[in-house]
Amino acid sequence: MMRDQVPLTGIVLSVFPIGENDRRLTILSKERGKIQVFARGCRKPNHPLFGATQPLIYCEFMISEGRSVNYLNSAEIRDTFPWLKEDYDSICYSSYFSELAEYFTVEGMDERNILNLLFVTFKAMEKRQISLPLIRRIYEYRILAFYGIGLEVFSCLSCGREEDLNTLSIGQGGVFCDNCRDKIGDTRLHPAALTPALLYALQYVAAAPLNKLYAFNLTEEVFAEFAWIVRHFMRLHVDHAFRSEKML
Ligand SMILES: [Zn+2]
Repeated sequence: MMRDQVPLTGIVLSVFPIGENDRRLTILSKERGKIQVFARGCRKPNHPLFGATQPLIYCEFMISEGRSVNYLNSAEIRDTFPWLKEDYDSICYSSYFSELAEYFTVEGMDERNILNLLFVTFKAMEKRQISLPLIRRIYEYRILAFYGIGLEVFSCLSCGREEDLNTLSIGQGGVFCDNCRDKIGDTRLHPAALTPALLYALQYVAAAPLNKLYAFNLTEEVFAEFAWIVRHFMRLHVDHAFRSEKML
């Protein structure tokens, strides 16, 4: 029996070889969020699905949804993002970004925010107006926020005031005003002094519309502090070793 075909638009996040000629793809799609799809026979070089069943390809797919397995019937390539595979650094960073996208998305959920984040991140990698290490920290911070783990950076965690936010506690997950900063107490909660530039960077990355997300730069000093915060915040909340992170 021929099942109804479903069109999907999305990016191939990862590819896993199955048997001799097949692949299992994890696709981040507009319509179904993260979805696993089997592509039969596609590892033969002359197979029509050979080109579309590679990591980091943006396609329109036609799939058949089964009770337990989805099958890929056809695919039309929309973009291959060639600059992501141009040099070693780009390969490492784009692999890391797609690994994070796979980790922080859930099958069957609406994940268009993270799909769009991936698009603007790849665009930023093409433009290279800011460095790859800064793109990485912005991406990490924003994907955590979409996942539901965000820092409160707009008002004091204790009293809600929006002025004099000069202290951040990574452990408590946000900023404190000068009246309340003594309440952080415990030094294991990583209290850090915030400069206005650093606070602005944290607020900008938390709230900027995605098409403006990478349209700013930081001095080396502010970048180092920003990177430190994102790294520690992520380590605190994400108990997972990412394979591709080791290459960065
Ligand atoms: Zn306060």
